[in-house]
Amino acid sequence: MKKNDIVTVSVTDLTTEGEGIGRAGAFPLFIKDAIPGDTVRAVVTKLKKNYGYGKMLEILKPSADRVPMRCPLSRRCGGCQAGETDYAAQLRFKTRKVMENLQRLGGFTVYEAAAEYAAETDAVRAEFPSDPDAVPVFPCIGMEEPWRYRDKAQVPFGKNKAGETICGFYAGRTHDIIESEDCLLTPPEFADILRMIKRWMKQSCIAPYDETSGTGLLRHVLIRKGFCTGEILVCLIVNGRRVPKTDALIASLKAEIAGFKTLSVNINETRGNTILGAETRQIYGPGHIEDLLSGVRFRISPQSFYQVNPMQTEKLYGKALEYAGLTGNETVWDLYCGIGTISLFLAEKAGKVYGVEIVPQAVLDARENAKLNGFSNTEFFTGKAEEVLPAWVEAHPDEQIDVITVDPPRKGCDEKCLETIGRMQPKRVVYVSCDSATLARDLKILTQQYGYRVEKVQPVDMFPQTVAVETVVQLSGGNGR
Ligand code: SAH
Repeated sequence: MKKNDIVTVSVTDLTTEGEGIGRAGAFPLFIKDAIPGDTVRAVVTKLKKNYGYGKMLEILKPSADRVPMRCPLSRRCGGCQAGETDYAAQLRFKTRKVMENLQRLGGFTVYEAAAEYAAETDAVRAEFPSDPDAVPVFPCIGMEEPWRYRDKAQVPFGKNKAGETICGFYAGRTHDIIESEDCLLTPPEFADILRMIKRWMKQSCIAPYDETSGTGLLRHVLIRKGFCTGEILVCLIVNGRRVPKTDALIASLKAEIAGFKTLSVNINETRGNTILGAETRQIYGPGHIEDLLSGVRFRISPQSFYQVNPMQTEKLYGKALEYAGLTGNETVWDLYCGIGTISLFLAEKAGKVYGVEIVPQAVLDARENAKLNGFSNTEFFTGKAEEVLPAWVEAHPDEQIDVITVDPPRKGCDEKCLETIGRMQPKRVVYVSCDSATLARDLKILTQQYGYRVEKVQPVDMFPQTVAVETVVQLSGGNGR
C-alpha cells in the first residue's frame, strides 16, 4: 500500500480518539468520521510501520448505527466524534470499551450484567456461577436527552477575513476560529450571550485579541450555568487592564438573559495558549454562582473545577455513594478530591470524611463548600495523595479507615498511593475513573497484590457524543472482609 492509494475499508472498531478502525487487506487504517459498521472508500494519507491513516471519501454502505449529523460543523470541529452514531450504540460501545480494557489490560474475566441487578450483588453473581471472580460490568448509564448537557463553555474570539469580529471554536488542532455561536452541547442561551457580546463589542469599538500581533482586547468568553439554580456567570478574558462600557453590557445581560447573575473580567496579558490569567475581578454581582448536586450546594467561580455535566455527575457520584455502602459512622478518605464533590456526597452518610487534593484553590473551594452546606465532619488536605496519605497513616496508626474513594486524573493512581491503600486495608474501595486503561492496571494491582476483589463495575456516560467514558468500581476486601 502507498500514500494516495484509494481503498475500500470495512470499519470494525474505534480508536480512543474516536477514529474508525478498519482493514485494507490485513493492514489497519484509522479513518476519521467513519464508524463501526460502515464500509467506506478512503484515500491513504499517511503510512506508519504497522498502521496508517485514511481520509474518508465516500460511505459505500452506512453502518446500521449511523444517524444524520445534527450539527453542520461537527466534522470540522471534531468535538463530537460520536455525533453520527446512534446514542444507544454509543452506550454499547462505551460498555464494551470498559470490558475490553479490564480483560486485556487487567486480566479479569468480565461479563455484561443485567442492569436490573445493579443493586443486588448476590443476584448478579448467580448469573455467572462458573467463575466466582468474574467481574460484572453493568450497561453504561446514559442520558435521556444526550445534547445540551454542558454547563460551561470557553469561546475564543477573533476576526474573520473580512475583519469582522467572530467567535466559535478552534478548527481541530489549529488556532483558526470557525465561526459558530450555538454549540449543541451547551444551553441555547449561551448563543444569545455570545451574540450580545459581539453586538456590544461593535457598539463600543472593542477589538478581539489577535494572536499573531498580541493586540486587541477580548480573548475568550467563559460562560457557566447552574443547571439546578438557573444562575449564569459570564467572564470576559481580556488582554488589558481596562474594559470600556461594561455598564451597557451588564444592562443588556440583565434585560435579556434570564438567570444572569454575575459578570467578571479575567486579565490575561500573556502571549501563550493558557486561557485564564491569574487575576479575576468582579464587575457585577458576587463573582460566583451556586449550583446544587443531589441537594449539596456548590459555589462556582470562573476558575473553579466543576464537572461539566451535572445531570450525569449526580448519577456517577450517586453510584460512588451507593458503592461506599455507608451506614453513618464510617471514616472515609476521598483521594484526588478536587472541590470535594464526592467528599460532600459522602459526608452526610459518614462519620468523618478526609479529602486530599493537589490544587490549593480546589482545596479552598472544598472547605468553602463544606461550610456552605454546614458539614463539620470533613477535613481537607493540600498535597499529593501519594505523600499526604502515607504521612497521615504514620501519624495515626490506630485510626481505622472504613472506605477509601479515589477519582484520579487520566494517568490513574500512583503506585505509592495503591500501596498505602493496601496497607490501610479499608473494607471497601470505590474507584472513579476517566480512563479505563489505567483503571484496569490499578485494579489488577489492588486485586493481585493487596487482596481486594472487584465487586461491580458501572460505566457512566458523562460526555455523550464523544468517545470518553467514566467508570465507577466497587472493591471489597480488607479487614472487614
Ligand atoms: N472528584 C473531584 C474531581 C477529581 S478530578 C471533584 O469532583 O471535584 C482529579 C483531581 O485530582 C483533580 O482535581 C487534580 O487536581 C487532582 N490531582 C492530580 N494529581 C493528584 C495527586 N497526585 N494527588 C492529589 N490530587 C491530585
